[in-house]
Amino acid sequence: MRSGTCAGGNIQVMVGFTLNDEHEALRGTVAEFAREVVAPVIGGYYERGEFPYDVVARMAKLGLFGLPFPEEYGGMGGDYFALCLALHELARVDSSVAITLEAGVALGAMPIYRFGTAEQKQRWLPDLCQGDRLAAFGLTEPGGGSDIPGGMRTTARRDGDEWVIDGSKAFITNSGTSITSVVTVLAITGRTDGKPEISAIMVPSGTAGFTVASEYSKVGWRCSDTRELAFAGCRVPAGNLLGGLGRGYAQFLQTLDEGRVAIAALAAGLAQGCVDECLRYVRERSAFGHELGYYQSIQFRIADMQARAHSARLAWYDAAARLVAGEPFKLEAAIAKLTCSNAAMDNARDATQIFGGYGYINEFPVARFYRDAKVLEIGEGTSEVQRMVIARQLGLDSRPG
Ligand SMILES: Cc1cc2nc3c(=O)[nH]c(=O)nc-3n(C[C@H](O)[C@H](O)[C@H](O)COP(=O)(O)OP(=O)(O)OC[C@H]3O[C@@H](n4cnc5c(N)ncnc54)[C@H](O)[C@@H]3O)c2cc1C
Repeated sequence: MRSGTCAGGNIQVMVGFTLNDEHEALRGTVAEFAREVVAPVIGGYYERGEFPYDVVARMAKLGLFGLPFPEEYGGMGGDYFALCLALHELARVDSSVAITLEAGVALGAMPIYRFGTAEQKQRWLPDLCQGDRLAAFGLTEPGGGSDIPGGMRTTARRDGDEWVIDGSKAFITNSGTSITSVVTVLAITGRTDGKPEISAIMVPSGTAGFTVASEYSKVGWRCSDTRELAFAGCRVPAGNLLGGLGRGYAQFLQTLDEGRVAIAALAAGLAQGCVDECLRYVRERSAFGHELGYYQSIQFRIADMQARAHSARLAWYDAAARLVAGEPFKLEAAIAKLTCSNAAMDNARDATQIFGGYGYINEFPVARFYRDAKVLEIGEGTSEVQRMVIARQLGLDSRPG
């Protein structure tokens, strides 16, 4: 972000966003990676609904899973803005690999970094930063995702030196790959004044009593891993509590505020990817004696798409800049998530229309974008939940009391 001085005085004015050299270099590297490594192969994985282990391994080699973490844990020493930039550039080409990175870092590893003890960080973070392993975050339950903590049923009770977990989780990203090492689940660990006390507990993959169901058949994000999880008398050491006892809900709100910025960047990337594809296509395809790009209705549609992609990018830039500056960013994160997911949906619909019949054929990236866009209005807080957060930040609240 740049600031300058007005010609006639010394009033500081904001004049826009310019990436610093490191961020620009990262952006270029990830854009090239997405073009050269992801684009040629991802369509096949998508068709097969297969997790792209070799692409993820190459993302790991590039250091993407360690981007916002300190070097002492094997991270790249970057910041959250860098993570968002990488997500934006990946999602311009494919959202399944982008969400694998987003869920692995923003939801999986970040809570361990933010709330873990020194021992927990040393145990889990190095493998996660290297991308040799993936972590997952289990909040949503079959009975409800928006209504947390009200809809939560999963419990954990203390038995000697162990937690015993019972319950289930739904739609958990990265939870069932062969490289998943740990899932952090939120569970009710007690009650205070009749209200549930919620804590976060880390459950290593393969723990007895922890079952991972088969992959959902999803409309989009077809090469990301999403599973239902069941816990039946699942025992983990007491030391697997992440953060304070009863602090799980507050930790989850912080994790999700940050995650919304990351998913907004991913959505803005998809919106920009739609423009990229259309600009290519309208120069190649002709109708009624002219390239499609000759027709003003097509030009206007693409102009609207670019306006949305641009506004979306500025929305997440603003939220991410506030986040890394340590300023309040809850309102801006919700605005960015809402704005960027709207842009992704609108651009995916328009891009498909511009491609005509080919827009409905899976071989073309815009068909993938169309299928991938919808979930952006649902995951990490639905658009309705974003509006609730924005309204509350504006002082409007319909909660009793
Ligand atoms: C592919 C995928 C990956 C996911 N990955 C993860 C993950 O890694 N970890 C995780 O914990 N979860 C994950 N989720 C779950 C996701 O976060 C939830 O689906 C989402 O929060 C919505 O919860 P729900 O599906 O239970 O819908 P519900 O909460 O049942 O909502 C249904 C509808 O009602 C609306 N609604 C609810 N309450 C209100 C209200 N008070 N006023 C107005 N409207 C309301 C909602 O906006 C929505 O439109 C994932 C979901 C998907 C599809």
